[in-house]
Amino acid sequence: MDCLFCKMAAGDIPVNKVYEDDVCIAFHDIAPQAPTHFLVIPKAHIGAVSEVTEENSAIAGHLLAVIAKVSKELGLESYRVVSNIGESAGQSVFHLHFHVLGGRDMTWPPG
Ligand code: C5P
Repeated sequence: MDCLFCKMAAGDIPVNKVYEDDVCIAFHDIAPQAPTHFLVIPKAHIGAVSEVTEENSAIAGHLLAVIAKVSKELGLESYRVVSNIGESAGQSVFHLHFHVLGGRDMTWPPG
């Protein structure tokens, strides 16, 4: 499958990595939208939150635990976690990822 994030997770394309374990990697977004903006992605290919099932939900839960751990390590106390699902919500890479944005005030609702 020709998936950019699968290649990044496999180490075939370099990333500015902040965390890695057997299940996932976290890396700084190439086009940061906040002073801290990193992505957490599973190594296994899951297309989006809409493809999370009872069978793979342990992976999704693990990603949330990694978000909490890495955010703490990076000194974030208040931050936003976002996952875009589908093109009209802004998804451009069709491999599950959570954006973690922090270091500035946020507005609500997001556009
Ligand atoms: O939610 P969306 O699918 O648009 O998020 C994809 C994210 O992946 C973007 O924030 C984009 O900047 C990031 N990206 C990256 N490195 C790449 C390609 C995309 O960090 N090589």
